[in-house]
Amino acid sequence: MQRYAVFGQPIAHSLSPRIHRAFGDQCGIGVDYRAIEAGIDGFEVALEAFARDGGVGANVTLPLKQAALARCAEVTGRARACGSVNTLLRSESGWHGDSTDGVGLLRDLRQQQGFDPAGAEVLLLGAGGAARAAAFALAEAGARRLTIANRTHERAQALAGQFDPERAGACAWAALDRLAAPRLIVNATSAGHIGGELDLPTALASPHTLCYDLSYGAAARPFLAWAHAAGARQAVDGLGMLVEQAAEAFALWHARRPDTAPVHAALRGRG
Ligand code: NDP
Repeated sequence: MQRYAVFGQPIAHSLSPRIHRAFGDQCGIGVDYRAIEAGIDGFEVALEAFARDGGVGANVTLPLKQAALARCAEVTGRARACGSVNTLLRSESGWHGDSTDGVGLLRDLRQQQGFDPAGAEVLLLGAGGAARAAAFALAEAGARRLTIANRTHERAQALAGQFDPERAGACAWAALDRLAAPRLIVNATSAGHIGGELDLPTALASPHTLCYDLSYGAAARPFLAWAHAAGARQAVDGLGMLVEQAAEAFALWHARRPDTAPVHAALRGRG
């Protein structure tokens, strides 16, 4: 059987094996998909051992997305633009790398949340790897203006500088209270993982604002609680994005697109 895996550190908590097995069951494909613990130092050796052992496809998560890009013989344009890879496919020339995070976010926004970013004002919090993927996807989806705020302001400026200045700009965190409430706020910071609350003015969200946290579970709670308190129309976590980016990887590996709805429902305890 061909082997698949997700690499990262920590990785024991990963939902990816469960998601890929559910897709495989649905499509009648036996999927051997495991979680492999690897940090930056051990990643190259672990990936080589995986390939020798029949590994043909892999996901990579924190802290390996940049390291994975460096291991690829070829990468897609969207992975090059984001500067990171979350999906690997073994080819004759070596590893082919892709970034499915951005398309995963768009699919969840459009299909599960009923939100089309075309023409929308968007505030993006964060400027790390996931924020980059979100920024390129939202710009490509036709967001009218992308405002980027990050704890380290220079990184927000650098990311905004990759886009047409008419369509994107950086905002200092301290100046967020002067920003009009956008239609979409995306939290792409990892602050919630350390229990950190973001210092955000409540006037940032209006009854027309969708607040979306890329993280899920306990890590998303502080931002979602802020969004509810601020009167946002809707506040959702990134579980749907996780399922959608996994479906994109599954389609790349197995040439079959699974139905994500039952997997969404099962993960949310509604299946
Ligand atoms: P990175 O480490 O690349 O970036 C982290 C970002 O968070 C940086 O912008 C950093 O700011 C900011 N940050 C960290 N701590 C704080 C804090 N205490 N206060 C304010 N800002 C902070 O991480 P990723 O971009 O890879 O991941 C970001 C989040 O997205 C994670 O929660 C991850 O789980 C989630 N994610 C979800 C996915 C999904 O499928 N749902 C897919 C990918 C990621 P600074 O630049 O100043 O350090």
